[in-house]
Amino acid sequence: MLRDRTCRFPGCDHRLFLEGHHLQHWADGGETSLPNLALLCSLHHAYVHERGYRITQSATGALAFEDPQGRAVVPLPPRPAPPLLGWPAIRAAKPPRPPAADRIHRPVPLARRARR
Ligand SMILES: [Zn+2]
Ligand SMILES: [Zn+2]
Repeated sequence: MLRDRTCRFPGCDHRLFLEGHHLQHWADGGETSLPNLALLCSLHHAYVHERGYRITQSATGALAFEDPQGRAVVPLPPRPAPPLLGWPAIRAAKPPRPPAADRIHRPVPLARRARR
């Protein structure tokens, strides 16, 4: 957990519902040890086990992901920051102008009832 922090699938930054995936399956003699484990979110764990994605580990421990057609899976570039919208953008585009003295609304006091 401390080593991986997020799902290891390229471009995935999930931190919850992570599962330890055996890079070499335990049925094939893979150990349940840190070098043989990679954290994957439940979605990407299913990609590997049910949809034919493959993970290969280089000698340095770096992981390479391949889709079922053998194409490398590369991380998406980070999303562009959303444009500044809403009140902050309105205020930035048009700084508030102090109200002119003649536009300040002053409530007119109610006329007193004439006493009988
Ligand atoms: Zn697994
Ligand atoms: Zn993931």
